[in-house]
Amino acid sequence: MPVHATPVPILKDNYAWLLRDSGAGALALVDPAEADPLIAAIEARGGRLDLILLTHHHADHVAATEALRARFGCPVAGAGADAHRLPRLDYALDEGEEVALGAARGRVIATPGHTRGHIAWFFADGAVLACGDTLFSLGCGRLFEGTAAEMFASLAKLAALPGETLVCCGHEYTLANARFARAVDPDNAALLARIGEVERLRAAGLPSVPTTLAVERATNPFLRAADAQALGELRARKDNF
Ligand code: ZN
Ligand code: FE
Repeated sequence: MPVHATPVPILKDNYAWLLRDSGAGALALVDPAEADPLIAAIEARGGRLDLILLTHHHADHVAATEALRARFGCPVAGAGADAHRLPRLDYALDEGEEVALGAARGRVIATPGHTRGHIAWFFADGAVLACGDTLFSLGCGRLFEGTAAEMFASLAKLAALPGETLVCCGHEYTLANARFARAVDPDNAALLARIGEVERLRAAGLPSVPTTLAVERATNPFLRAADAQALGELRARKDNF
């Protein structure tokens, strides 16, 4: 039974994601960085949380993990490679390993680049990709710890998922990303259409995500970079844009 994903705005421009398995009704929470709005969102959905999933160790993704664990008594899953600097993990997983959410399975995709131990969670049933700060709509994460080659390989792995995959990213950066994307790819009709859609959504106070991989492959300059060198140049240009 498919997994359904809902963004919960937290902090300044972060999204945590609630993932609901539509079979058993199990609920997972990705990247809990602020307790109060997330507790309220979980209480509004019945008050049971079954699993916490972490994408990477930055405070704006993990800060409320212990508060949520204490409140709901649920296990926490994250990257084995970063277990030493993540909150305490009940499931320390690496590339290809899986967690259960009701009858659904979420698979770890290692996506180093933003941080060394960054991972994404992919639920094939429902085509939900929780990708933290690796892939954003019209952008990608900064290279804090990894190389352009690592980020290129990580983005290529994500880009190979089915086109209908829902990209559930960690930040509402889309409008700022759009300004850069338009500057580097001004004649891309799909990009201009997507920017119009994002402007309408944001003007209405709605999230611009999830987007789909098919849309990102057509519009995101970082996913469209030809090789690691081109990606590195694009990333450096964006850092100073
Ligand atoms: Zn981060
Ligand atoms: Fe972040």
